[in-house]
Amino acid sequence: MKTFDVIIIGAGSVGVPAALSLAERKIKTLVIDALASPGQGQNKKAIGGIRATHSDKGKITTSLKSIEIFSTWKEKYGDDIGWISNGYSFPAYNEKDENMLKSLMEVQKSFNLNIKWLSREEYLDIVPGINSKNLRGSTYSPDDGSASPLLAINAFYFKSIEFGAKYRFNEHVLAIDTSKSDVITVKTDKGEYSCAKVINAAGAFAKETGRLAGLDIPVVPDSHEGAITEPVQRFFGPMVVDLRPARDPATADSANFYFYQNNEGQVIFCITPGNLMVGTQGESTSLFLPQVAKRMVALFPKLANLKVRRTWRGQYPMSPDGFPLVGVKKEGNNRNFINAVGMCGQGFMLGPGLGELLSRMVMEELTDEDHDVLNHFDMDRDFSGIEKFK
Ligand SMILES: Cc1cc2nc3c(=O)[nH]c(=O)nc-3n(C[C@H](O)[C@H](O)[C@H](O)COP(=O)(O)OP(=O)(O)OC[C@H]3O[C@@H](n4cnc5c(N)ncnc54)[C@H](O)[C@@H]3O)c2cc1C
Repeated sequence: MKTFDVIIIGAGSVGVPAALSLAERKIKTLVIDALASPGQGQNKKAIGGIRATHSDKGKITTSLKSIEIFSTWKEKYGDDIGWISNGYSFPAYNEKDENMLKSLMEVQKSFNLNIKWLSREEYLDIVPGINSKNLRGSTYSPDDGSASPLLAINAFYFKSIEFGAKYRFNEHVLAIDTSKSDVITVKTDKGEYSCAKVINAAGAFAKETGRLAGLDIPVVPDSHEGAITEPVQRFFGPMVVDLRPARDPATADSANFYFYQNNEGQVIFCITPGNLMVGTQGESTSLFLPQVAKRMVALFPKLANLKVRRTWRGQYPMSPDGFPLVGVKKEGNNRNFINAVGMCGQGFMLGPGLGELLSRMVMEELTDEDHDVLNHFDMDRDFSGIEKFK
């Protein structure tokens, strides 16, 4: 039986950067994934948006750390991960959204987020051609950005191997024995490993993995679709998030939608369906493209000329309130079974910051600030508060 300090279940948006941080600190780390290579779960489904523009201290602080890692990666290690500092914007088209965004900005600023309110004219300068009817202005957080989830996870993966992390792919975790207080045994379809601590980073399968350790983890896979266009010359600046829901008898109801132009000039976009689409199916629906294209062109008519190259469907690992679930759950004999799950639509952007936090947790070096952040991600909270941007 091979022995490790830490076994991470899942080589995805969370597991790989966690392995990177742990291996960098000389912790003997094994990552196990059922799929053939890193990032083949939901990481490759992400559109690459990276923001610290959230509504609570936990996600803001963790994402600020992630942004530092993404934005300095090329300078530090030389790999181009497609990072651009294009910023995020949430335009307001009614008084209610304007008031909500402005009051949230006060909270965001108090946690050191660089965010400001742009007037209608200032916003039209950075998104020229966006529908100006009823436009009241927009938030703008210029330090947010984007990167390629494919390039980023591979860069993190190869660097973690250099630091000494080990990986086992095409290997499915089938059983976890937490009955002994200081050694956990992880059984897969190919072998058996022991370790001092396990990190559950199983994404959409967090609930099933928790169950192997006798835990009930409230994470549900909720389907979302994305698409990418051909590349064109840069014609607008930030990620645009339209918060307004839409009632549409011709297609179906939808909540917000968002799009940006990546480092190669391709426009990438997503929409939030009106209702949860629970399940792990991977095929695009026939509803998605007509629904989102109609809304995008109404908001930003210039987009009408772009050719869509590809659509896809993946899952947000949803927690009940829209906040991640990180740490040890009180029930059972599992003080060495750490969860880093329920990332919702933000696992890619939270991953690197969370990786550092998890490595401090494993090494029992958590700071007061970390404890504060972890309170927002508490495994045993009552889920009564709902994330404002859920
Ligand atoms: C359309 C779409 C757009 C998105 N856009 C963004 C975005 O712009 N920015 C952002 O931050 N996030 C985005 N997301 C969300 C993001 O993709 C997820 O939050 C993130 O990938 C979850 O990371 P994870 O590490 O928890 O899971 P994953 O990356 O899915 O990794 C989990 C891994 O665990 C493995 N696994 C599970 N169970 C087992 C087992 N028993 N044995 C072995 N291996 C196992 C899986 O094979 C998988 O590889 C988007 C998602 C979708 C669907």
